[in-house]
Amino acid sequence: MRRCAVFFHAHPDDEALLTSGTMATLAAAGDRVVLVVATAGEAGLAAGQLRADGGLGGRRRAELQASARALGVSRVEVLGYADSGLATAPSPPPPADRLPRLADADVAAVAATLAGILTEEGADLVTGYDVNGGYGHPDHVAVHHIAAAAAKLAGTPVLLEATVPRDRLLSWAGRVNRLLPAGRRVDLTPWAQAYSAAADITHRIDVRAQARARRASMRAHASQATADSGARTLGVFTKVPPPLFGAVFGREWYRQPGLPPTGHRYHDVFATLER
Ligand SMILES: [Zn+2]
Repeated sequence: MRRCAVFFHAHPDDEALLTSGTMATLAAAGDRVVLVVATAGEAGLAAGQLRADGGLGGRRRAELQASARALGVSRVEVLGYADSGLATAPSPPPPADRLPRLADADVAAVAATLAGILTEEGADLVTGYDVNGGYGHPDHVAVHHIAAAAAKLAGTPVLLEATVPRDRLLSWAGRVNRLLPAGRRVDLTPWAQAYSAAADITHRIDVRAQARARRASMRAHASQATADSGARTLGVFTKVPPPLFGAVFGREWYRQPGLPPTGHRYHDVFATLER
């Protein structure tokens, strides 16, 4: 049976890092994959020239489309909320006639929009983020609340929160960091409390067969790999050599809220779908 999965993300490139392997796996199996992104990521980091052009949002929408093509996505929607920027460097609020920053938006209103798409698609599954919003970006925390509310509104049977086991993330990032010159290493201190404890993860999906699609998806987001200062996460990750890439990016993780803590891990995102 052809099923439909809607992957909800905060910014273009989040799908590449967190769920691209799952998306490519489902699309290759003939399931319908829909990608909904709340913002165009116009506050993302980029090299000075790109920001000076003022065209980062448009550039990132185009990159998102290229990533979606690489993954076999059937439909892409950008909701058009403003990128809130980092908690430490918030972006200015948009003009009153535009949609607000995602972190300022009314959760129920955004959830209603997302629920409309879930209903239209007859979605079997929607993804959001863990309660920490991964590494704590205000827009990612918002996605946690919006996805949960939308799944409830639309009656979508499975809600999965995309996450990463934080211990593995820290150990991998440390390995990747050591490949880089000292001045280009990523500060891992803020990641110590990010994402999820391994015990809270309910789904571990093997995406090793989709390494090529994942890499193409990451490479599509070229603007995020070219910041002037330091190495951006994506820039670091696309530099991982192919043999290591499979080991580092061979799995994706999710947490299904409300599942009893049996310690069992599912290996199929639709495992808990009752049909
Ligand atoms: Zn993001």
